[in-house]
Amino acid sequence: GKVLVTGANGYIAVWIVKSLLEAGFAVRGTVRSESKAAYLRSYFQSSGDKFEAVIVPDITKDDAFAEHVTDVDAIAHTASPFHMNAVEPDEIINPAVAGTLSVLKAAEAHGARVKRVVVLSSTAAVTRVVSEPTLLDESSWNEDAIAAVKEKGRDASAAQKYQASKTLAERGAWQWYAERKDKLQWDLTALNPPFVFGPNIHDVDKPENLGESARLWYKSVVEGGLSDDALANTGANYVDVRDISQAHTLAIQTPAAGGERFIISAGPYKWQDFVSAAHRWSDKLPAGNTSYDPSKAVHVLRYDNRKGIATLGVRYRSIEEVTRDSLEDFKARGWL
Ligand code: NDP
Repeated sequence: GKVLVTGANGYIAVWIVKSLLEAGFAVRGTVRSESKAAYLRSYFQSSGDKFEAVIVPDITKDDAFAEHVTDVDAIAHTASPFHMNAVEPDEIINPAVAGTLSVLKAAEAHGARVKRVVVLSSTAAVTRVVSEPTLLDESSWNEDAIAAVKEKGRDASAAQKYQASKTLAERGAWQWYAERKDKLQWDLTALNPPFVFGPNIHDVDKPENLGESARLWYKSVVEGGLSDDALANTGANYVDVRDISQAHTLAIQTPAAGGERFIISAGPYKWQDFVSAAHRWSDKLPAGNTSYDPSKAVHVLRYDNRKGIATLGVRYRSIEEVTRDSLEDFKARGWL
């Protein structure tokens, strides 16, 4: 079969393409400019005509994807802004929402062979503001971010604007799908990862230009950017970039994934967990907070990942593995 991957040059997407090619799929990746296509063609050269890169300059335009879906069996939609620089909420919300609808409409109108559309959403679309330790599952939606952006507009935080963009894009996809699913020969799956960490295979020349999540990891673990207090008491949930990518391949291969959303999360962390693993890998890296006791860490927000394990068979790399492979990547690039 053949899979269309949107935003194929992204941090996560290049790993998705790799996972799909290794599983035997042919892949067509969309990117916004020729230089990004050139990098991918070169990176996947050994796949021959099983990999192809095409340019879609504006994913929000009508028929942006029309000619690219006619011969594909599945679509993985990853292109969506991920940054903390939005001033006007619509700057980030519009491309997220309209880009997702544009993919769905192309599949409906031109995707005669399409069986499955997988949307890369986020736990940003699942999370809530919590004060007590809470376990969230796939029934949860981030109403808080939508409400914050509605009330505060441009004065909402950048994180709230990003979270609203992911929530509205995924919800928009489910609403659109619910209205037509009886007439479609394909179904929809959403994957919801938390912070994605791990090695890079996309085009990145220096640490400052890493993706949003990997840059945060580099600053916190390699550059020692956090106080002892922050190391021991702040964190979130993580997944290895290779595991969320493999989840896309599994979601395309698993009939029972249709019509479902899946939290794809390895588990919670405090930053010191990664710092400790990095210091074990090389004692030249910061030791961080040496009084930290992982068994006493309180993780306020956890995600229930059982559905993805049971239905998709997702497996999770440990903090140790994410750390080792990230550091080996950085070392090979001369960044350590
Ligand atoms: P990257 O920034 O590396 O990739 C983002 C991709 O989306 C790039 O291909 C980018 O294209 C494209 N894109 C961004 N804005 C637009 C736009 N306005 N129109 C068209 N394409 C656009 O990020 P990641 O790989 O980290 O993220 C990919 C997806 O995963 C996003 O949907 C993100 O929300 C989601 N996600 C990421 C997490 C993480 O921790 N990394 C966690 C949870 C979800 P270009 O290079 O041309 O800008």
